Amino acid sequence: MQSSRSAIVIGAGIVGLATARALALRGFSVKVFERSDRAVGASIRNFGMIWPIGQPGGKMYDRAIRSREIWSALSQKADFWSEPAGSLHVAYHPDEWLVLQELAEIFRKEGRPVQLLDKASVTAASPAVVPNGLLGGLYSRDELIVDPREAIAALPGWLSCQLKVEFCWGKCVSYISDQTVYIGNEEEHQADLIFICNGADFETLYPEIYSKKPVTKCKLQMMRLASQPTDWRIGPALCGGLSLTHYNSFKAAASLPLLKQRYAEEMAAYLEWGIHVMMSQNGRGELTVGDSHEYGLTHDPFDKEFINRMILDYLRTFVQVKDWSVIQTWNGIYTKLTDGEPDLFFSPEPYVYVINGVGGAGMTLSFGLAEELVEGL
Ligand SMILES: Cc1cc2nc3c(=O)[nH]c(=O)nc-3n(C[C@H](O)[C@H](O)[C@H](O)COP(=O)(O)OP(=O)(O)OC[C@H]3O[C@@H](n4cnc5c(N)ncnc54)[C@H](O)[C@@H]3O)c2cc1C
Repeated sequence: MQSSRSAIVIGAGIVGLATARALALRGFSVKVFERSDRAVGASIRNFGMIWPIGQPGGKMYDRAIRSREIWSALSQKADFWSEPAGSLHVAYHPDEWLVLQELAEIFRKEGRPVQLLDKASVTAASPAVVPNGLLGGLYSRDELIVDPREAIAALPGWLSCQLKVEFCWGKCVSYISDQTVYIGNEEEHQADLIFICNGADFETLYPEIYSKKPVTKCKLQMMRLASQPTDWRIGPALCGGLSLTHYNSFKAAASLPLLKQRYAEEMAAYLEWGIHVMMSQNGRGELTVGDSHEYGLTHDPFDKEFINRMILDYLRTFVQVKDWSVIQTWNGIYTKLTDGEPDLFFSPEPYVYVINGVGGAGMTLSFGLAEELVEGL
């Protein structure tokens, strides 16, 4: 049933956009306040990997699949590039290969579209995988790639045209009280419900409540390599062995602790800087490469050149590309929950809700999460 209630969403990153969409589809009249002239936070700085394979089976995997469904539909409707490329994790050591075999078995039982590939099938699936020493790979059909810069820029236009969401750019919400948001001292707006989707800014709104929540910030370094020669596509998004230590869904593999032990002995510096290495390709043929993970409430703004070098060194062990020119480097910061929960949802005062803490999976989970939260209200 249609409602004529109003809602304000603060933040036009993926969490804010997904929340605005879910509210508008439930009949709310929605305004989004974004402090910048366009979103420039974590949501445009990521790989653009919609990544169900990283989510544990059950509720989280289902949420990721629902989000992917929405991404695919929106890519058509809002006219931004996406590719159902799938993912390919590759193994060069027997312990990595064993983990992939265990995961293939577990994922198949969960009904996921995965396939264990031998060396010849891996190199047939991707011309970018280094064949020397390759033992095999785990291919999954679930993963979708978008270019986050294009997608996050395109979505507001579609939301305003199709769902009448109003975007107020360059408006930093500095205070909230009694269903009213204040933009500095001279502007205020009221709504029935207010959703705060402010990403890694814990300092502006309800800092006293955030200071008691299990939150920190994670800084990641990323790179973009030049557009590759026309028609040279990597196929699936590619991940090396280190990524097996990164995602929750991989913890189900019985031999993962042994693999981690070898990495701790042989690649301690990679673990210290939270480096695991993945690569996706966008519609223009450019390659997005990352990343590292540093944790803390305050990060220095400078990138560490040695981290980028370590990422590229590791990438070269399993990937061959046509053009290695690095055309951009940057970092991104997201909210990381320290209690292991997948997201943070709380109400600091009546009719006001905070949605945050989706960590390294915001592109993968936000559309599904926002639908669930809005439906649950
Ligand atoms: C390098 C990197 C790689 C990643 N790779 C992936 C990936 O491949 N797949 C995946 O699923 N996830 C990935 N992630 C995670 C994903 O990007 C984040 O989970 C997601 O972008 C978080 O979205 P958000 O909307 O909470 O934050 P943001 O995108 O940071 O948006 C928050 C917005 O709120 C605005 N804002 C804050 N305070 C106010 C205020 N007071 N008033 C008005 N506006 C305000 C900010 O300006 C900002 O635009 C990656 C993240 C990084 C950094």
